[in-house]
Amino acid sequence: MSTADPSPHSRLPAVDRVLGWPVVAALVQVHGRALVLDAVREELAAWRERPEGVNDEAIAAGVAERVKAILAPSQRPVLNLTGTVLHTNLGRAPLPPEAIEAMAAVGSGASNLEYDLDRGRRGDRDDHIESWLCRLTGGEAATVVNNNAAAVLLTLNSLALRREVVVSRGELIEIGGAFRLPDIMSRAGCRLREVGTTNRTHAADYAEAIGERTGLLLKAHTSNYRIEGFTAEVPMAELAALGRERNVPCVEDLGSGTLVDLSRFGLPHERTPAESLAAGADLVTFSGDKLLGGPQAGIIVGRADLVRRVRGNPMKRAMRCDRVTLAALEAVLRLYADPDAVARRVPAVRLLVRSAEDIGAQAHRLRPTVADWAGGSADVDVIPVQSQIGSGSLPVDLLPSFALRLAPRGSRSGRAPERLAKRLRRLPVPVIGRVSEGAVLLDMRCLEEEAAFMKAFGTVQPA
Ligand SMILES: *Cc1c(COP(=O)(O)O)cnc(C)c1O
Repeated sequence: MSTADPSPHSRLPAVDRVLGWPVVAALVQVHGRALVLDAVREELAAWRERPEGVNDEAIAAGVAERVKAILAPSQRPVLNLTGTVLHTNLGRAPLPPEAIEAMAAVGSGASNLEYDLDRGRRGDRDDHIESWLCRLTGGEAATVVNNNAAAVLLTLNSLALRREVVVSRGELIEIGGAFRLPDIMSRAGCRLREVGTTNRTHAADYAEAIGERTGLLLKAHTSNYRIEGFTAEVPMAELAALGRERNVPCVEDLGSGTLVDLSRFGLPHERTPAESLAAGADLVTFSGDKLLGGPQAGIIVGRADLVRRVRGNPMKRAMRCDRVTLAALEAVLRLYADPDAVARRVPAVRLLVRSAEDIGAQAHRLRPTVADWAGGSADVDVIPVQSQIGSGSLPVDLLPSFALRLAPRGSRSGRAPERLAKRLRRLPVPVIGRVSEGAVLLDMRCLEEEAAFMKAFGTVQPA
């Protein structure tokens, strides 16, 4: 290094000196040396790249910023104003307070997760939810795994390893996130036996396919699409009768699996596990965090001997739920004891049944807050929109709702709406809307926390 022309690098302080500065030493006191040391090294490396304007204050401030950024939670609450109630990317069903309390109660210490308190010996983690699931579905036995994809995989592997699984060509579903039935089937060690055609499958198609190698008849709920027109599918009652006659179990993957008849709340009817089992299905599988409104889980209910085989599969151990999830699920199932109260007490269902009038009134109430925030950058008005249920549930059915429409002023074309959407995502509580026809739409269906909304937009609710 030339002494005549000292490189700017040589003006950078040594790591140990930075750690000794009072501001930085205070950070070490609070957060520990290792983390602050990382921040100091990163900060000095950044200055080495761009040394203009380097000084001690700027370095110390940079270190503090980095420490804050490292420690900021990565996953945090957002406001889901996308209009999709069960949004997989935003965590699906919001949990009721009963579930949060139950999670906190068992999460912070030991619990009787697998411990029989009466006999003082080992129990089964399914015990906490099995009787509830049987009561609510009419099944004989039940078990729970991580999610419904796992439930399907485990069921196939437990009941039809190295055997054929008969599925209608109209039901070879892809759910998204790489869940494709044919792939799951081969990973489960089963051979897919497709029958029928995309639009029509008859009982005779299944009957012809059943042979010595058949392990299972599978019906999959076409939860994210609908085949319309000249169609035919075999109802569960008929398929189950065929299965009984030929001694092959019949399983239905229901996808969402609501535990109440949603039509009682004015929503489109979605097939329930109880209906499928009553029609003769030997096992059904469904998600915990779709229409059920609970935590992520995959539920398997039905014949006791088949559930026993599923539970006895060593793969079950790799897919089991933890105590916190089971506590949340149990708490949500308890809310279904009174079907009339479900629309009030289960948040996912409550959001789905919200009336358009109620949503519209809220949109008008909050419009000035958003208009103030937008200032001159966008016009804000209230427009009618359609919400979606989401997560593949009831895919074709839309719910009338209202949205705040933020239309950027001036450069209406180009990236102005995307820039506005980004500003909304950068609010203290990120607000997630959707861009449509040159504007950002904030569908108010899922907004229950008005205080959080006001806070996100930087105002406090008037007293
Ligand atoms: C959603 C869905 C799945 C996957 O369930 P996850 O709980 O997301 O794992 C499987 N099958 C059907 C029919 C579904 O709708």
